[in-house]
Amino acid sequence: MSNIYNGVYSVLLGMVITLRQLFKPSVTHQYPYENDFEINDNIREIPVGFRGQLHNRVEDCIVCKKCAQICPVDCIHIDARKPEKGGKMWESMNVVHLKDQTRIVGIIDGKPPKKIEPDMQFTIQHANPEGTTHPDIPAGATVKISGDKVDRIIDRKKVVLFMDQFDIDMTLCLFCGLCTEVCPTECLTMKDSLEGIEYSEFDRENLIYKFADPTLYK
Ligand code: SF4
Ligand code: SF4
Repeated sequence: MSNIYNGVYSVLLGMVITLRQLFKPSVTHQYPYENDFEINDNIREIPVGFRGQLHNRVEDCIVCKKCAQICPVDCIHIDARKPEKGGKMWESMNVVHLKDQTRIVGIIDGKPPKKIEPDMQFTIQHANPEGTTHPDIPAGATVKISGDKVDRIIDRKKVVLFMDQFDIDMTLCLFCGLCTEVCPTECLTMKDSLEGIEYSEFDRENLIYKFADPTLYK
């Protein structure tokens, strides 16, 4: 009798819980079609140093291939070539990243300061020698720009190799971070933001991240 009582009681209890849930609003969201929750309400903090998606700031990459050599699963594919004979080879350059997310490649007059103050003025010679890194500035121009528009300035070493391909197959990546540790210019990093954990794709091809930017070398 006790077993029958317990059996009936647990079934009824389960039904009551099920019925109660029927009248509550649905909490399931159809990710990735609906991702407002992740973007707006996800209060979990991504810890600094989290190993998320890989990103290569290619303008700083010297195509040394150290990252590809150390990768234990061979998921980094790099192809580079020497410039054609007589082709233009640029010495070291500065890459001026502006706050509007554009950048100017050129040679800064004087040494770039460690800290950029808003009242500073920068003269950039031979701006965008390779072409189209900034939509409004013609190649070879000299540009004056004030510090309040500048986000950061980085040195780019002499261009020795042109990068034709820099692909990372994120479907194979182990997130070990070894590639970022050996990178001599620290241009290869792992995102430690919400952006770094969003991977949903319908096509596996979209998980092969392609970083080569031919406009940097033309
Ligand atoms: S983090 Fe990924 S790409 Fe980098 S070395 Fe490890 S497995 Fe290779
Ligand atoms: S180690 Fe860094 S600089 Fe060298 S090829 Fe890889 S990303 Fe580029």
